[in-house]
Amino acid sequence: MADSPHYDVLIIGGGAGGLAVASALKNSRPQLRTAVVEPKDTHDYQPGWTLVGGGVMAAEKTRRPMRDFMPTTWIRDAVGEFDPAGNAVVLASGRRVGYDQLVVATGLQLDWDRIEGLTDALGRDGVTSNYRGDLAPYTWQCVQNFRGGRALFTQPPMPIKCAGAPQKVLYLAADEWRRRGVPAEPHFYTAGPAMFGVPYYAKALDGVIAGYGGTPHFGHNLVAVDGARREATFERADGGGRVTEHYDLLHVTPPQSAPDVIKQSPLADAAGWVEVDRSSLRHPRFDNVFALGDCAGTSNAKTAAAVRKQFPVLMANLLAARDGKPVTAGYDGYGGCPLTVERGKVLLAEFCYDGKVVSTLPLDPAKPRRLYWWMKTTLFPWMYWNVILRGRDWKYPAHRPHG
Ligand code: FAD
Repeated sequence: MADSPHYDVLIIGGGAGGLAVASALKNSRPQLRTAVVEPKDTHDYQPGWTLVGGGVMAAEKTRRPMRDFMPTTWIRDAVGEFDPAGNAVVLASGRRVGYDQLVVATGLQLDWDRIEGLTDALGRDGVTSNYRGDLAPYTWQCVQNFRGGRALFTQPPMPIKCAGAPQKVLYLAADEWRRRGVPAEPHFYTAGPAMFGVPYYAKALDGVIAGYGGTPHFGHNLVAVDGARREATFERADGGGRVTEHYDLLHVTPPQSAPDVIKQSPLADAAGWVEVDRSSLRHPRFDNVFALGDCAGTSNAKTAAAVRKQFPVLMANLLAARDGKPVTAGYDGYGGCPLTVERGKVLLAEFCYDGKVVSTLPLDPAKPRRLYWWMKTTLFPWMYWNVILRGRDWKYPAHRPHG
C-alpha cells in the first residue's frame, strides 16, 4: 500500500478546479478515500494578477499556502504519466498511484519558448506579462515609469485562459496614462479577427479601445522579441509575412496549450486537451475519468468562472457513476470575463457555449459599471477563496439569456 497507494477518487492538480472538487467531495462524502496530486507549495489567485498589474491589488493577496486549502491527502508531486487503461498515474518521482475514479485538473501550459527571444527579454527594459504572477508588479512599475511612446499589448491564438486579460491590462494602463497626461500610443496586436470571440462584447470593446485612442491590429501573432533593440516581430494571418515594430513598453500574453503530460497521454483529444463530453465532463473512452478547468477539451472560455459552474456538475456525475446511477447533470458552457475597462468600471462579459450571451444580474452585461468593478475587486476574490476552493455550490441567481 505504501509503495503503490490506491484511492477511491484521485484528483490531479490543486488549482481552482482540483481544490473545488476535492473540497466538495470532502463535504458530501467524507468517507471516500481521496487525494490531490499537486507539486506547488502555494496556490495562486490568478484573476488577481490583472489587478496587481493595474496597481489595484497587492501581489501578496494573490498567493496563499497550499496547505491552508488542501482538504484531503496531499501528494506533493507531479503526474509524469497517465495510464488510464491500468487505472493509475505515474508520478514524477516514479511512484505509481491507483484509483477507482480520476479527476484531471492540471490547468494549461504557458509556452513562453514559442516566442523567440521572449524568455531573455522578460522582466526588464519594459517587457512584462501579467501571465506570470511574479511579473505582475513589474507591469505596474512599467506603467508608472512610462513617459510616452508606443505601448504594445499582444494576444496569441485561442484558446488561452481568460481571453480578456490581454486587453484588460491595456485599459488599466491607458486609463492611468490619460489621468497623468502621458502621451501614450497604445496598440493591441491580436492573432484573432476581432476584439473578443463573442460579437456582442466585441462591438462594445471596439468603442472602449477607440476611446483611449488605441489601435487594434487583427491577425497579428507575436513570434519574436528583440529586447536590446526594443523590437517585436509579428506573423500576419493574411499571408503578408512578418512585420517588425518598435516598442517602448511590451506586455506579452504567451501562446498556451494543453500540458505536455496530457498531450502525450491516451486521455488527449486531437488538440491535446483532455477529451470529455462537453456537457457531462466525462471522458468518452475511459468512463471513470472526468476533467474540468483549463485542461478540459471543452470549447467554453477557460476561466475560474467556468470552474465555478463546472465543479457541481462534475461532482454530481462522478457520484452518480460511482453509485451506478445515470449521469444526468449538464454544464452549459458558462464562462465569465470581467473586463476592467477603466479604473473603477468593469464590463462583465458572460456567455455560454456557442457564444450565447447571458447575464446573471438583470442588467446589460456589455455596459461598464461600478457595481461590476466592486464584484471584480472585492466579491470575486472573496468567493474564490471562501466558496469555490471550499467546494461550496452557492445558489447563485440563474443566468438568463440577454437580448
Ligand atoms: P489552475 O488554477 O491553473 O491550476 C492547475 C494546477 O495543476 C496548478 O496548481 C498546477 O501546479 C497543477 N499541475 C499542473 N501540472 C500538474 C501535474 N503534471 N501534476 C499535478 N499537478 C499539476 N478567470 C476568471 O474567471 N476571471 C478572471 O478575471 C481571470 N483573469 C485571469 C487573469 C490572468 C492573468 C490569468 C493568468 C488567469 C485568469 N483567469 C481568470 C483564469 C483562471 O485563473 C483559470 O481559468 C483557472 O485558474 C483555471 O483553474 P484550473 O484548476 O483549471 O487551473
